[in-house]
Amino acid sequence: MKATLLTANIDPMGAAITDYFTHHKADRLRVFSSLFDEDEIPVKDLFRTATSMPILERTALKLAGGKILDVGAGSGCHALALQEAGKEVCAIDISPLSVEVMKQRGVKDARLVNLFDETFYEHFDTILLLMNGSGIIGKIENLPAFFLKMKQLLNPDGYVLMDSSDLRYLFEEEDGSYLVDLAGDYYGEIDFEMQYKDIKGSVFDWLYIDFQTLNMYAMQHGFKAELVKEGSHYDYLAKLSLAK
Ligand code: SAH
Repeated sequence: MKATLLTANIDPMGAAITDYFTHHKADRLRVFSSLFDEDEIPVKDLFRTATSMPILERTALKLAGGKILDVGAGSGCHALALQEAGKEVCAIDISPLSVEVMKQRGVKDARLVNLFDETFYEHFDTILLLMNGSGIIGKIENLPAFFLKMKQLLNPDGYVLMDSSDLRYLFEEEDGSYLVDLAGDYYGEIDFEMQYKDIKGSVFDWLYIDFQTLNMYAMQHGFKAELVKEGSHYDYLAKLSLAK
């Protein structure tokens, strides 16, 4: 897995987060994909507080304990909620702009780190990947590297809390059957590109994974996967712990 960091000139989300933090408003954060029409992420939502978070995220925050790692922490919304609840959290992100905002917002331990950086080696009791957090894995073929990294970072009784979605509803026919090309790539592998004002990011892979597939890979790599909670639209929160 590549473990690169972003720079400000190719970091549209970081620029949007910075604008919203400094001016309390932001332009449109546009999202493109070869599979969907153009969409946008409401920048305000990246600053959600514990009370306005979806139930899966609130559940994850409640279950998080000990030394917590928030992966891809963005504006620091989860890290701040955890700190307010008296919990100890380290927030990492590859976006220098976002990490700067996190520091200014009071995240005590915010670091510019790529999860897959080999020199990032510490132990945590809870590892959080939220807001379709499985996305950071990028592609199914990266799952072995992901589970290896989780093994390296977790204390023996630690666990990963990750939310994701089963994208099969995108391929559902009117009769309820599914049109998925079984010989093709996994249907949850999506390419995205973001733009904020004139700042364009590079194309990146984002993995949405259904629980059954996650569970299968988890077992193959020495993990136990539990379905903690299901959301209202094919989304769910999973807990991954080391199989004993
Ligand atoms: N968790 C935040 C932000 C989600 S957006 C929230 O719920 O609001 C995903 C974030 O992951 C972005 O800020 C992106 O910069 C970061 N990211 C992507 N790949 C990463 C990686 N390999 N390591 C660390 N952070 C990563």
